[in-house]
Amino acid sequence: MANSKVRPKRRVGSRVLPGLTDSTQRLAKVLDSIAGDPSTVDELEQAPMDGDLLVGCALVRRLLAEQPGLEAALREGAVSVVIELPSAAHVQLVADGLQQVIQGDRLEQSGWPDDNGWLLFARDGSQRTHRPEEGNLTVRQSLSRGRTIIGVSQAPDRYLPSDLMRIADRRLVVGEPSSDLVRDIAMAVTGNSPKTTVDAEVARAITVTDLVLAIRPGTDADAYVERLLGLVGARRSSAPGITLQDLHGMDEVVEWGTALARDLADYRAGRLPWADVDRGVLLVGPPGTGKTTAARALAATCGVPLITGSLAQWQAKGHLGDLLKAMQATFEEARAKAPSVLFIDEIEAVGDRARFSGHNAGYEIQVANGFLEQLDGIGGREGVVVVGATNFPERLDPAIRRPGRLDRMVEIDLPDEKAIVGILRHHLRDDLKQADLGAVATRLFGSTGAEVEQHVRDARRRARHARRAMAVGDLLVAIQSGRPMLTPDERRRGAYHEAGHALIVTLECPGSVQRISLLATAGSGGHVSASWGDVMLTPSGIFSRLRFILGGRAAEEVALGVASTGAGGSAESDLAKATSLAVSALSALGMREGDQRLVWTGMHPPERIPALLAANPALAKEVSVMLETAYAQSVEILRRHRSALDDLAHAILTREVLDGSAIDEIVQGARATSLDALPVTRQLVRH
Ligand code: ADP
Ligand code: MG
Ligand code: ZN
Repeated sequence: MANSKVRPKRRVGSRVLPGLTDSTQRLAKVLDSIAGDPSTVDELEQAPMDGDLLVGCALVRRLLAEQPGLEAALREGAVSVVIELPSAAHVQLVADGLQQVIQGDRLEQSGWPDDNGWLLFARDGSQRTHRPEEGNLTVRQSLSRGRTIIGVSQAPDRYLPSDLMRIADRRLVVGEPSSDLVRDIAMAVTGNSPKTTVDAEVARAITVTDLVLAIRPGTDADAYVERLLGLVGARRSSAPGITLQDLHGMDEVVEWGTALARDLADYRAGRLPWADVDRGVLLVGPPGTGKTTAARALAATCGVPLITGSLAQWQAKGHLGDLLKAMQATFEEARAKAPSVLFIDEIEAVGDRARFSGHNAGYEIQVANGFLEQLDGIGGREGVVVVGATNFPERLDPAIRRPGRLDRMVEIDLPDEKAIVGILRHHLRDDLKQADLGAVATRLFGSTGAEVEQHVRDARRRARHARRAMAVGDLLVAIQSGRPMLTPDERRRGAYHEAGHALIVTLECPGSVQRISLLATAGSGGHVSASWGDVMLTPSGIFSRLRFILGGRAAEEVALGVASTGAGGSAESDLAKATSLAVSALSALGMREGDQRLVWTGMHPPERIPALLAANPALAKEVSVMLETAYAQSVEILRRHRSALDDLAHAILTREVLDGSAIDEIVQGARATSLDALPVTRQLVRH
């Protein structure tokens, strides 16, 4: 509908005064009931009703009730009002409701402007004429004649006449359905009021279409509300439980997801073009940090279905052709259910085409290309937000991260103590409501969310077997029994190792260590967490980081004479990390010697590094020099600060967990070392 005068039209019948049509008569009664006189509704029993009109009228009634003075202003006339609605589906309903309510009121009230006194623009963007330049002339003419002008739209700035927007006396915003509105409408539709109040969050998820669809003649308010909940539930059932509000320690994800939920709502309402909605995100973090959970929470908060896929899942189908078909089917499902969230786990498995080699290359390249094709298909198709998860961002095909694909990356770290308390509370549900969980969280420092959840499960089982309510002690026991038992020697070595890491960072960048923990978690023997900004990308920054990584091993050598094997081993070990960083610095960041300096050979995942070095002795030699240099520097620094190292190790041993201020206090005596005095291979740090 473009601009139309307020006059009786479709559904309502053409003669409002005086001989009312049946439906209008019914409506007048229903409206009375909304105003608080339910007795008249009895007469409506079993009569067929116009659901759209009923809901529209109820919306308008609510708006008038919530906007003090609006009714009076309209009565006086010559006002201009813009009403912003929560969705395109509201527009026609509210327009019809306004007409009905206003004219219904005229039946008993005087003082309304005459028929010609009203100008109504109801624009949902569905027509070519729903443009801001359209209707300006009519607005100006009506103004000079002193007419009342009302504009309703889900996106007033985009669709209503621009002159109306400029001169509007009032701009009202109708929010998503509230608990009160649902009750009002239930009353209007059934004549009695529901016994239960719909939760505010659930009410928000109810669409106007739901409100109309749930109407059945001859049923009571509770049955109506029941049907509403059923409609909302069906839409949400694919992502039950956790929402973004339940996530802890991933603020960036929550912030991004909350903004996305708002954008998606605007997109569904026709207020925002798809081009302005974020296409997706890449979640990077170790296993158990909550990437899958975050995708589920995102879908739940947005109220859209979650579809999941992974190479492993597609591969299960067999040969290449079947795999590609399975992949396509997943993307197709996401498009069919749009708006939707498509979660792709272990997205790095799809591969980096640049690294494929050997007899599998053809196969892997086809998989990677097939995947990119699907991803681009999503760019063209509307309504699918892609969430990729990986623990190995450096293994991703760079093409996946190109602008317009998954160009936004969010890293998920291990949760800090506050976040751990939040995760505990979430999984404890109603247990230990009053308890202080600080001590538990301290002992869980360094754990992933999944590990925290596991401890809660273990504690609950303990309490259940003992047939009593859970106590904080159950949690502490669960945590302790999940830990490897250490001998006193191992503990001492561990304390020096972590002290070495921490002392080196604190000396080079005071105040940057947040916490040291000697408490082993599933993933590591101890833990140092430090944040020292973006020093990665200069050669001296890389050396700083190498000294930090190798500092644990260096401390063992300085204090105990010889380093254990603890710093080596798996790809997660200190040595593997240091080697990987050195290789990257040399091969990807332009730190190589001579004519090789600017040759970029890519970032390399840890497990591919041994083969790379074996095939490239010159590079291996440079890596080795770099690591030896950094290690020697670490040893030298720790020797000079031996007493601080001893103090720190001792404090860790006795207290198990140290926070940043305690560390700074202990290290304070030891002053920062001038790096000039260190044994440095000159060419390597020439910048
Ligand atoms: P990932 O996908 O990163 O491996 P998951 O999402 O599978 O991790 O997390 C495993 C479990 O840990 C989930 O069951 C979840 O309940 C819990 N969890 C992890 N992180 C959090 C968090 N930040 N808040 C709440 N629960 C979490
Ligand atoms: Mg997962
Ligand atoms: Zn270490």
